[in-house]
Amino acid sequence: MIGENIEKIRKSIPEAVTIVAAAKQRSPDEIREAIKAGVCCIGENYIQQACSAREAIGDKAQWHFIGHLQKNKVKLAVSLFDMIETIDSLSTAQALDRECQKINKKMPILIEVNSACEPQKSGVMPEEVEHFVAELMNFKNMSVCGLMTMGPWLSDVEKIRPFFKITKELFDTIALKYPGNKQWKHVSMGMSTSYKIAISEGATMVRIGEAIFGPRKGQKV
Ligand SMILES: *Cc1c(COP(=O)(O)O)cnc(C)c1O
Repeated sequence: MIGENIEKIRKSIPEAVTIVAAAKQRSPDEIREAIKAGVCCIGENYIQQACSAREAIGDKAQWHFIGHLQKNKVKLAVSLFDMIETIDSLSTAQALDRECQKINKKMPILIEVNSACEPQKSGVMPEEVEHFVAELMNFKNMSVCGLMTMGPWLSDVEKIRPFFKITKELFDTIALKYPGNKQWKHVSMGMSTSYKIAISEGATMVRIGEAIFGPRKGQKV
């Protein structure tokens, strides 16, 4: 089932788009199956789950952190992940830079954008993103690779499109400002119900859970 789902998604999207399998609530066996079917990036929301999954599965995939990063978990996150997609505060970035330096690692990161300016959600407000990027560029132990957004929860997914558009426009504006930063190349947006819309608005990375693994039990995140 997982293999078929991935094949179907893969066939319907451009080759250059990276699929990140959003693995919350999934067992190591399910994650292994996704990797076997060709998924090369696994997205984890919780450090603890990521620890046990990575222990079981190892380096057969790239591990992306896609949850909210608490400062007291930064040290673990630095050792566990190959990319952190959700940087939205300067103090967390500072802590990350420090921990990376200790183990001589350069961490690829994305900045989470609160593209619909929802007060209860994490992410940097769109009008603050340019300034935030400028500050992050000063850190030596992280590689600033682009933007990530969740967008709002809307049952009519077409209504999410404007927020994907805003995020891509910000990405392009910043790309023009830093032509020397060859790592600035990712826009992570779109989930199970919205990935096609996100890709048509310029997503280079989509984070897909249920459309790969089937419905989740209980709460959404
Ligand atoms: C769960 C999750 C996804 C994937 O959601 P689906 O609706 O299962 O595709 C994507 N991004 C983040 C941050 C998530 O937590």
